[in-house]
Amino acid sequence: MFAYFCLLSVLILVLVDVVFFITVSTTLENQSRNRVVNVGNEVVRVIDLSPGVTLSDSVFWRYREEGIIAYILSPDGAILHPDGVEISETRIREALDHAARLKDEEDAAYRFEGFMNFCTNVSLNGESGVLLVSCSLGIVRDTVSNLQIYMLLVSGVALALAFVIAYSISQKLTRGLKSLSDSAVKLAKGDYTVQFVNVDYKEVAQLSDTLNEMRDEVKKSGDFQREILANVTHDLKTPLTMIKAYASMIKEISGDNPEKREKHLQVIIDEADRLTGLVNDVLSVSKVSSNLGNLNPKVFNLTEYLYGIISKFGYLQQSGYNLMLDIDPDRYTRADEEKIGQVIYNLMGNAVNYTGEDKTVYISLKTSMDGQRIKLSVRDTGKGIPKDELPHIWDRYYRSEENHVRPVKGTGLGLNIVKVILQSHSFDFGVESEESKGSTFWVDFPCVPAAPPEEDSGVSGD
Ligand code: ADP
Repeated sequence: MFAYFCLLSVLILVLVDVVFFITVSTTLENQSRNRVVNVGNEVVRVIDLSPGVTLSDSVFWRYREEGIIAYILSPDGAILHPDGVEISETRIREALDHAARLKDEEDAAYRFEGFMNFCTNVSLNGESGVLLVSCSLGIVRDTVSNLQIYMLLVSGVALALAFVIAYSISQKLTRGLKSLSDSAVKLAKGDYTVQFVNVDYKEVAQLSDTLNEMRDEVKKSGDFQREILANVTHDLKTPLTMIKAYASMIKEISGDNPEKREKHLQVIIDEADRLTGLVNDVLSVSKVSSNLGNLNPKVFNLTEYLYGIISKFGYLQQSGYNLMLDIDPDRYTRADEEKIGQVIYNLMGNAVNYTGEDKTVYISLKTSMDGQRIKLSVRDTGKGIPKDELPHIWDRYYRSEENHVRPVKGTGLGLNIVKVILQSHSFDFGVESEESKGSTFWVDFPCVPAAPPEEDSGVSGD
């Protein structure tokens, strides 16, 4: 990183220097050009104003201090004015040639042999000649080379400063990134206590915040997986122990006693059912979570569908359970039928499991006043759910200890399945519960007209 910073500084300085020198030398050269043109025009004016007068040499020397001298050349190349000056043959020839080529609109200034020149044809005392005004570009060259030295010195200092700054910035940045990468390695090894710290630069600070959030999420997910594993293994262990214990009892004690054997076998069957329920719930949770994008919504008769599920709970009547129904006829909704079946099944299962001594469960399906919604309510008369537990009952593996007044088949997964399915449909749902009076779980379905025949036939063809 340091090398890149240095390279960038060098490039910037070289670019600045080059642009500076080009600008300075062109500006100075243009100034000399303007000056010789102005001086040339001034001398021409003096010559024009004094026809027939022999001009003093001082007219031609006047701008000597600026390095500018004016000459009058005869057409054959002799220097007529001023006296005692020398000028190279080539410059004289170039001036005469240039003057010969001149047209009115042509630029009379040109650069030649380190001089900026202006020339024009003049007539002096009736004789024709060429006025040449020359300015040495030596001064310009000297100024540029002086500036060059200053610029190089300034560039050197700037470069040294840039290197120092680049070094400290790159050190700080690499230190920050290195600490982030060290922490990431620790996190990868399972150390969830690592802190991604860096506040030197805003972007790095943001990155470390994001990494800290990621660490929390990874930790949560790890904790969650461990929790699931602990719950599942715990839930599997109890029925398995029971099954083993009762099977041994049948083998060793109750084998010949039909009454006892029957009782023990029933325990084994119950525990095996419990195991099946647990395994099914675990499978549903993962299936529902991974299949959320695969909803298969269609219009179906919710009333009929609800009656179908209720009929599966019919066997409970033998155990003294009452299902009290208040169901509007032929209400249609649009949803994933199979998944809604899971929701209703779970809510009814819970109501049966947790209802009070009267063993009554109330199920209603009622249309709203505006006819837009159908509300399914499943009410029990159990102990209810304490207020502080209400927000948690939808969490995976949440099971209230208090509610287990009698052996209830439960895994703590049912309401989570309900929540995930209803959220994926964007349906409203909730629970109202009063302690020692019971709980009412409800779901709001959209009420839609019966499916047109095409859709019906399409559905049945699935
Ligand atoms: P479980 O398999 O334990 O019933 P659920 O996810 O279906 O798991 O329910 C989570 C918890 O919510 C239950 O353990 C129970 O404490 C509480 N709960 C659910 N339904 C009822 C209900 N109808 N009455 C009282 N408590 C309930």
